[in-house]
Amino acid sequence: MDTESSRQTPGTTGLKYAASRGLAVVVMEPIKGGLLAVTPPKEVQAIWDEAEVKRSPAEWALLWVWNHPEVPVVLSGMRAMEQVIENVQIADRSEPNILTPKDLEIVARVREKYLQHGFIGCTGCQYCMPCPQGVRIPGILSFFNEVLRASDPQRRNEIIERYNATIPQENRAEACIRCGTCEEKCPQNLPIRRLLSNARWALRPP
Ligand code: SF4
Ligand code: SF4
Repeated sequence: MDTESSRQTPGTTGLKYAASRGLAVVVMEPIKGGLLAVTPPKEVQAIWDEAEVKRSPAEWALLWVWNHPEVPVVLSGMRAMEQVIENVQIADRSEPNILTPKDLEIVARVREKYLQHGFIGCTGCQYCMPCPQGVRIPGILSFFNEVLRASDPQRRNEIIERYNATIPQENRAEACIRCGTCEEKCPQNLPIRRLLSNARWALRPP
């Protein structure tokens, strides 16, 4: 739910400007590489539950994009036939300005809540790879996101165990020498060095 501009997204201002000049804007990663489709933290789900029309997180994300009259095409990566069917059905139900003011207020509060949780907008695109030091950046950020979403210590410990079992020591955040090469390539403008530094502590064994 990007409204500000970055290297990859024109933001709301850029979108409106392009439309005013007759340019079509194709929106990529409407679900943030699937991040917005996974089970949300319970505080986020509680906000979604306030909506009059119940929707899945993926539907909220897609409808929010389709809600913009300036958007003619949305590209969403799909890995399974069920996702193709769901996306087509949502596109079929969508139309510009379909979300009510109350819906938009709910979306804004969800966005705030995700930001409070430290949501990392890594889409897993891998453009930052390979890291010259072998750091598995997208994998680490994915585990970091999971830990930030986890609401209880037991769940957090399970994620940390899985991280340590999955990512070899030489490819973990500790191997980063902060050269910055990856940040130049990240279309999401993520502060990868700072995130890895935080991930290192958040994912250390208990
Ligand atoms: S800043 Fe760290 S993670 Fe990024 S390319 Fe350099 S060593 Fe790899
Ligand atoms: S380039 Fe950025 S968004 Fe893409 S995988 Fe790397 S950190 Fe994530």
